[in-house]
Amino acid sequence: SKAIVLKQRPNGTPQTDDFEIIKEEQPSVKSGEVLLKAKYVSVDPYLRGRMRDEESYIEPFKINKPIASTVVAEVVESKNEKYKEGDFLTGMLDWKEYQVHTGDTLRKISNDHIALSAYLGVLGLTGLTAYFGLNRIGGPKKGETLLVSGAAGAVGSIVGQIGKIEGLSVIGIAGSDEKVSLLTDQLGFDAAINYNTTDDLAVAIKEHAPDGIDIYFDNVGSYTLDAAMKNINRFGRVINCGAISLYNETEQPTGPRLETTLVKKSVKMQGFIVRNFEEDFPEGVQQLSKWLQEGKLKHEETIVNGFDSIPQAFIDLFKGKNKGKMVVKI
Ligand code: NDP
Repeated sequence: SKAIVLKQRPNGTPQTDDFEIIKEEQPSVKSGEVLLKAKYVSVDPYLRGRMRDEESYIEPFKINKPIASTVVAEVVESKNEKYKEGDFLTGMLDWKEYQVHTGDTLRKISNDHIALSAYLGVLGLTGLTAYFGLNRIGGPKKGETLLVSGAAGAVGSIVGQIGKIEGLSVIGIAGSDEKVSLLTDQLGFDAAINYNTTDDLAVAIKEHAPDGIDIYFDNVGSYTLDAAMKNINRFGRVINCGAISLYNETEQPTGPRLETTLVKKSVKMQGFIVRNFEEDFPEGVQQLSKWLQEGKLKHEETIVNGFDSIPQAFIDLFKGKNKGKMVVKI
């Protein structure tokens, strides 16, 4: 059975050499445990932070120990009366083909109505991040203008669609023309900007939102955040969900640089961690499932095949290779 461990802490952009695929004995199952076979593994930008040896809301990965992320796994042997062979479970698990677990921190899921991979995307932490970030931190009101960066990614693509469901005017920022078309032609965004072919992002935002933006959902940080702030309206809200453009920087720049805008325009800027809303996850999952069933929400994903591809799929997040949720199918 194979496992993927962190061989060394990445310096700048992660490389495949930072990871190692090791072979280990298939574990045996003790009473109260299940043997799990990984089916789908989630790769997420925040894992980059856990590869640094620094204090955060979640502890760093250890060298020569397996990486962990959200995984969908199948029970292949059970000595736990709560689970039977063929059940599917999801939760935080190691990057291992096979592993034993008590099941305590895992949730049973079914593929009756939706593909299992959706539990890593729209019905998992991604969808919940979009839902709670926009609604609880952003406080959207019908008719307002929402700007989303990382718009064609896992979180961003859901944020924009929820914005449309809730009656907002939605503008996305993404890294290619193909992503721009996905947003406007398939996901219902009112407009989208390719930041890679735009000279001045602040000007491009203004062209699409001449009356300014009321809410900015930030997945990218840095210059993208600056450009958004130049267009923010009075009483605007900035939702700091992530700052992927800074994750591989070896020296963190200071910021935000437009704090006078916050004052002059009475803007509220707030970060959050999706786990803050853990108590309300059932509400979030119920609402997201309902929208999916009603066809109001589309679930976009990029599926990469094979256990050995996990590190590369992770690295490719920083190259924008994914549309929607990046998932590895084992
Ligand atoms: P995505 O699916 O959005 O994948 C990452 C995307 O980011 C890429 O496809 C790429 O798209 C874009 N990107 C990569 N590098 C850069 C760069 N230098 N500048 C601009 N864009 C870049 O990932 P997620 O949806 O999983 O995560 C999105 C954000 O949300 C991240 O910042 C993540 O850390 C954060 N997050 C926060 C959570 C919380 O609880 N606060 C929970 C989950 C996620 P493109 O082609 O457009 O460049």
